[in-house]
Amino acid sequence: MAAKAQACLASSARCVFGSQSDTLTLDVPTSDTSRWRAVVRVLRSPMDALSCALFPASCCACGNPLLRFTLSPVCDSCWNMLPVQGGTLCRICGEDLGIATFSTGNPRPEEDCVCRVCRMDPPPFRRAVAHGAYQGTLRTLIHSLKYERITPVSNGLGHLLASAMAQLAAETPSEMLVVPVPLHRSKRRTRGYNQAELLTQAALKVLRRTHPEWKLRLASEVLVRSRRTATQFELSARQRRDNVRGVFSVPEPRAVAGRDILLVDDIYTTGATARACSKTLLKAGAASVWVATLARAQREGVAFWDPKFGKTAVSHTNVREMASSPGS
Ligand SMILES: [Zn+2]
Ligand SMILES: [Zn+2]
Repeated sequence: MAAKAQACLASSARCVFGSQSDTLTLDVPTSDTSRWRAVVRVLRSPMDALSCALFPASCCACGNPLLRFTLSPVCDSCWNMLPVQGGTLCRICGEDLGIATFSTGNPRPEEDCVCRVCRMDPPPFRRAVAHGAYQGTLRTLIHSLKYERITPVSNGLGHLLASAMAQLAAETPSEMLVVPVPLHRSKRRTRGYNQAELLTQAALKVLRRTHPEWKLRLASEVLVRSRRTATQFELSARQRRDNVRGVFSVPEPRAVAGRDILLVDDIYTTGATARACSKTLLKAGAASVWVATLARAQREGVAFWDPKFGKTAVSHTNVREMASSPGS
């Protein structure tokens, strides 16, 4: 993996053009966009070939050689293998309810689509959405960003995060503060960046173009992690909750008072972090909190309340994904 990471870093250093997700035309006036696109199309092919011959590099997810210029050292087929989260999801936290397991032939009314956890202990946030399941290539790319310092992947991943955030556009207020889940300052210093903030910045760039009417302002400074916590890796849901209790604070409550907040993180695992942050922001006076993450790990032993049977039914387990979800 380390060798792969080095190859990827080398590739990111030699890149000139963006991948399919990072266009050259972001800051070009609309009238010039089509002209730029035509120029890029003509130049791209020979320059790609030359670049790949002079500076061979490989995809940081699958290891295959990259065949063209790219800011994110990820091949096209890996980008294309990042499906959106499907199935029937909890309408509050986005948990996959695994409804297929219980299909009775009748469509399930939307109000039934709430997972057991949200029903028993409603979260302080209004709704949480994610782009895809925390597995496979998406998990590899998130690990590349967090642990291998391959920060250019945040651009492509930011597009996916933007699509998750856009799911909320129709139901959230038209003006919101966007708050990335903070790292403790010592962890941020060691890592050199907060991956949630990089992803948020990339996603906001996209949303400014796709949803210009949605006024989203990055507000990284309003929420701080005041205590360094143990890594969430392999902690149970209860331990995760205890681990983040009282960890977050709002140094300037005036900054969030009456404001609607869109909280952003890379992974939603048990929801412990999202709940703790939301609680803190609401206590400081925020009007509402919504949550968007890039990936969603499934809880161990997902269950939902089935009114037909009047009991809680366990739908499926995904122990492996849970155990390998490291948290912040
Ligand atoms: Zn690949
Ligand atoms: Zn739920």
